[in-house]
Amino acid sequence: MTETIKAEALTLAPALQDLFYTLHAAPELGRHEHHTASVIRAHLTALGISHISLAETGTLAVIQGRGPGRTIGFRADIDALPITEETGLPYASRTPGVMHACGHDFHTAALLGAAELFQRRRGDFNGNVKLFFQPDEEGDGGAARMIAAGGMENPHVDAMLCCHVESGIPTGTLTVRSGPICAASNPFTVTIRGKGTHGAKPHLGTDVIVAGAQIVTALQTISSRRTSPAEPVIVTVGTFHSGTAGNVMPEEAVLTGILRTMGGEARARVKNDFRSVVTGIAAGMGVEAEIEIFESYPGCRNDPAVTGLLRRSAAKILGESNILELPEPSLGTDDFGYFSDIVPGCYYYIGVGNTEKGFTCPNHNPHFAADPDALPLAVAVEVQAALDYLAQEA
Ligand SMILES: [Zn+2]
Ligand SMILES: [Zn+2]
Repeated sequence: MTETIKAEALTLAPALQDLFYTLHAAPELGRHEHHTASVIRAHLTALGISHISLAETGTLAVIQGRGPGRTIGFRADIDALPITEETGLPYASRTPGVMHACGHDFHTAALLGAAELFQRRRGDFNGNVKLFFQPDEEGDGGAARMIAAGGMENPHVDAMLCCHVESGIPTGTLTVRSGPICAASNPFTVTIRGKGTHGAKPHLGTDVIVAGAQIVTALQTISSRRTSPAEPVIVTVGTFHSGTAGNVMPEEAVLTGILRTMGGEARARVKNDFRSVVTGIAAGMGVEAEIEIFESYPGCRNDPAVTGLLRRSAAKILGESNILELPEPSLGTDDFGYFSDIVPGCYYYIGVGNTEKGFTCPNHNPHFAADPDALPLAVAVEVQAALDYLAQEA
C-alpha cells in the first residue's frame, strides 16, 4: 500500500513538472492571482473534484471519502513576490518584477498532484480531505480571509497540514518540529515630532533625529535585557526617514519595523515594552512619539500529535533517516498560523535543495529555485499523512 502511494506519485512526475513550470512562468502577486486560480480550478474540474472560489482568488476543494469520518485540510499558498527573477531557467518568470521566489508554485502543483491521488483513492478512506489553495500569503493574510469566508466548516476541518519548500536541505528530506515553528509578527510605525531649527542653533529646537537614534538603540534592549536569553524576540527597525538638508534640524522622523515573538504572553509583553521604551526615551528627549503597533500573523505552533503523525507518515515515504528534527523555530512568519490557531496543525519543510543542479539559494532571492524532482515526494507525503490520519480512531 505504502509503496503504491509513492510509486503512484512518481508516475505523476512529468505532469507535475509541467504544471509547476506553467505556474512558475506566470507568477502573480497576492490578491491578483487570477490566472493562477484559473489554472487551479481548470485542473480540479478536469479531475472531477468539486470546488468553490473563496476569498476571491482562493479556491477550496473537497474530496469526500466512501463514508463519514473526520476531515483533514491542506493549505497551499499560491502567490508570488515582487522580485525580478535572475535564475535564467527555461521556465523562469515571464513577468518582470514578479517571481515565485518562495516556492508557492511548488506547493500549488504538489497539492494538485495530491488532489489527483485523493480523487482516485476516495473509495479507500472514510471522512474528507479539504484543499485550501490560498491567496496572498506574502501580503496581509489570505488564510484569515478564507477562514472568515467559512472555509473551515461544512465539513468542519479537524486538523490541518501545510508543507513549505526549503532549499537548505536536499530533495528527499523533510524537517519538522513540535511546538513553535514560525513567529508572530507585529509591524509598527513610530512618528517622532519635535521642533525644527537651524543646524547652528540646536538649543532652539528639539532634535527628532537624535531622539530617533536613541530610540533605535534602546529598543534593542527589549531582546537583550528584558527577555530571557533563551526566548526568541527580534525588534527590527527597517526604515528611518527624516530630514531634507544637512544644515536643517527637521520636525519629524518616521521609523517602521516589525516585532517578532513566539506569540502568546511574549507577544503582549514585547508590545508593552516597546511602548514604554519609546515613550520614555521620547519624554527624556523632549519630543512627541506617536506609536502604532499593528496585528499581523499569529505565529505557528505545531500540535504534538499531528506532528507525530506527519513524522511517521513521512518516514514511510522518505525513510526514517530523512526526517530531520528542526532544532529551533524560525523567526519568519506564515499565515498558516491562522489555521493552526483554530485546529491542531503541523507546518513542515520539504527539501528542494539540489547542489548538482545549483539549487541551493535561499527563498526570497532572485536566484531561488526549487528542485522539481521533489514534487512527487511532497505529493506522496501529503497523501500518506491524510490516509494515516483518516484511518485513526476519532
Ligand atoms: Zn515567502
Ligand atoms: Zn512562502
